[in-house]
Amino acid sequence: MLFAGGVLLSGCAQGGNPAVSQGANIAGIARLSLTPNSLALLPGQIKLLTVTAYNAMDKTIAVPKTQLYWQSADWRVAAVDATGRVSGTSPGTTTITATAADGQVRASVAVTVVNLRIGQYEGDRNAALSMTFDDGLPVQLAVTVPILNSYNLKGTFYIIANQPKDSWNGNSVSHTTWTQWQSVQAQGHEIGNHSMTHAYLNTITDPAVLDTEINGAADLIAQKLGHRPLTFAFPSSAWDAQAIALVLQHHIAWRDNPTGCFSPVLPLSTATGWIDTALRNQSTGKKNWVVTIAHGIDGLGSAPCTSQFLQQFCDYARSKSSALWIDTYAHVASYIAERNAATFSLTGMTDSSLSFTVNTSLDSRYTQPLTVVYTPANATAIASASAMDNTTGAPLPVTIKGSTIYIDVAPGPDTVTVTTQTKKCFTRRFPATTFR
Ligand SMILES: [Zn+2]
Repeated sequence: MLFAGGVLLSGCAQGGNPAVSQGANIAGIARLSLTPNSLALLPGQIKLLTVTAYNAMDKTIAVPKTQLYWQSADWRVAAVDATGRVSGTSPGTTTITATAADGQVRASVAVTVVNLRIGQYEGDRNAALSMTFDDGLPVQLAVTVPILNSYNLKGTFYIIANQPKDSWNGNSVSHTTWTQWQSVQAQGHEIGNHSMTHAYLNTITDPAVLDTEINGAADLIAQKLGHRPLTFAFPSSAWDAQAIALVLQHHIAWRDNPTGCFSPVLPLSTATGWIDTALRNQSTGKKNWVVTIAHGIDGLGSAPCTSQFLQQFCDYARSKSSALWIDTYAHVASYIAERNAATFSLTGMTDSSLSFTVNTSLDSRYTQPLTVVYTPANATAIASASAMDNTTGAPLPVTIKGSTIYIDVAPGPDTVTVTTQTKKCFTRRFPATTFR
């Protein structure tokens, strides 16, 4: 790109110290070229521009980088140092210009610092709710599960592994069967591990016994349900460091953040207040993840709440679902772990598309899709958008709100491409360039 007759811009580049020439073009530079010819970066990311100088015969000539004057048109978006290292600062667009020391010859590249991030919770909601139910009670199968199903909400049932039977005795009050829990699991609820015998795990000194209570229970649930439990709840909240360490060897999370328990005397307003508090909380820690614990219902089982209480709580939670993500303990725990471990890399960008990968170093148990939030530069509104996993060819779920696109992506090595039709403030042409 040739800018003939340019004037040295005022304001010195970071680290740049142009030796202002006495006459014309002491370096003999007739033309400069920068590679790549456009740049996309994430905030905090650094990429190096390579410069090539040509003389009047259009032959490449050596030019020390320090003889060039580097400048960013908007330092709030991206900075450049005296060697052409460009670092993204915050989302936006800018132009990086290299000027020969005499100020006569320049080359520029358009730089976009991409506005791409992981949503705090699914759908970029700012709070989450996991409803957990302990002890694998028969009345939960009869009453609790149908109520959750009627609201299309998914709960987490922490079962005691030695309790369910293989066969039905005809008495729905006295026991549950593995077939029933298989059915609950198939309806989308989580079956979690609540130990083998509901022992106080902080009092067990024999490592073999502790292993049976934690790992043996997980093995048995996996054998009976075909799916290894992902999360663990300590019976009677009795834990110690040894038991926690063993749990985390075999599960992705344990219920370490209960907000409160349902009971016959808990006012509904207290329970709905937990949701309100979480929705108001702006932190990104676990404070805006509401975790309820319940046992019995309608007079059966310990600390029973009523059907009406559970229904009213579900009603309230559902009414907040645009800002509150309601899902199982495992799904929320997995999302948080993935969100905290995720790294983006950009693999390509055009005027109407962005390609990236979102990867974690986590193992195959972490499968919860992350909501990637993307706001194209200069977009005032998105007319339409689609996203695809380039490896499988599968379309990915996309939601558009104003000028922002939300894409649900399972982290992994596959490249995802988002294609948009935007209404822009102005048009900046981006050549189809592959970035590495
Ligand atoms: Zn329990």
